[in-house]
Amino acid sequence: MHDTIRQMYCEEQLSTYEIAKALSIKRDLVCRELKVAGVQLRNRIEASRMGTKKRVWTPEILAKISASKRGKIPSREIVERRAKAQRGTWRVTLPISDEEIRSLYSEGHGLRWFSRTYGFDASTWGNRLREMGVVLRAPKAASVAYKGDKHPRWNGGARTNTEQRQTAEVRAWRKKVFARDGYTCQECGQKGGRLNADHILPFALFPELRTEVRNGRTLCEKCHKETDTYTNTRMTRDDFRTLGECSVSVSY
Ligand SMILES: [Zn+2]
Repeated sequence: MHDTIRQMYCEEQLSTYEIAKALSIKRDLVCRELKVAGVQLRNRIEASRMGTKKRVWTPEILAKISASKRGKIPSREIVERRAKAQRGTWRVTLPISDEEIRSLYSEGHGLRWFSRTYGFDASTWGNRLREMGVVLRAPKAASVAYKGDKHPRWNGGARTNTEQRQTAEVRAWRKKVFARDGYTCQECGQKGGRLNADHILPFALFPELRTEVRNGRTLCEKCHKETDTYTNTRMTRDDFRTLGECSVSVSY
């Protein structure tokens, strides 16, 4: 390679800057290659005497450059130099400071968390941390990372609907409601048979009233199914705000 550089410098009278640009290498390297080839570098005065006119890249010169580069894999040094020159020039402006990134990461937030919270790819955050010299943690397996309360649909540890409805407390509540109502349907007056203890304010929406006897009433199965709250999953707590006949006081 230094033969080509020497030729460009001495015969074509290109400047070290022009050679560096043409060969996509650092100017330092051009100078060193020339020194290795035993070429005395032109000093500033000599260089300025060469004029500042724009050199024309003649097809011959371009062909020579092309030939000199053909099939050549840039040395590791050159690759590193290019990377170093490039580094930092495409730096993305992130919404939080490097210090904040470092501290949030050390608090245990992962790259995906940064990505979800502030945008940008997880790799962008990882690269910035690496630039700061932070050693990245091994990514956790998704099954571990999103377990329990880390999962976006974490339900607060609630058991299944059926499990919740069959706790000892709720079974005791049901018995108390039946006893208070004399095992009689409060709608049609049916006594005994298949009776249900109905939650006046729905079980699903008012967990705080699940075992309040005053929130219960005895209904036969038929009447229970006719209530508008029976397995109605579309209702919200707000739907009960204006129920005047509701004997249960609830704070919203
Ligand atoms: Zn009934």
